[in-house]
Amino acid sequence: MAKTDLFDEFLNLSNQSADLAKQLASLKDEVTAVLEQNAELRMENQKLREQYVAARGAAQPKRTSSALPASKQNLEKIYGEGYHVCSKFYGQHLETGESCAFCLEALYGDR
Ligand SMILES: [Zn+2]
Repeated sequence: MAKTDLFDEFLNLSNQSADLAKQLASLKDEVTAVLEQNAELRMENQKLREQYVAARGAAQPKRTSSALPASKQNLEKIYGEGYHVCSKFYGQHLETGESCAFCLEALYGDR
C-alpha cells in the first residue's frame, strides 16, 4: 500500500470514527430521555393503580376473607404472602408494600 493510500485510509477511518462518536452521543441522549420517560411512566402507573385501588375500596368495601370461596381464599393467602395472583403477573413477587389492581380485581372483582 502506497503512503498516500495509507494516509487516505487513515483519514477515512478517522472521519468515520468521529461520525460514530457523534452518533453514539446522540443515541446516548435518546436512551437517557427514554429511560427518564420510562421512570416517570412507572411512577405515574403506580400512582394510578393506587388511586384505582383506593377508589374501588371506597366504592366497594372489602369483605372479610371468610366470605370468599375456598379457591379465592387460597389466592388471597398467596397474595398476602407477596405474590401476584392476577393472570397478568401470576407468580411474580410483589415489591414490599406494593399492591396490584389486577390481583385485587381477580380476588374481589366479581362481587
Ligand atoms: Zn397482580
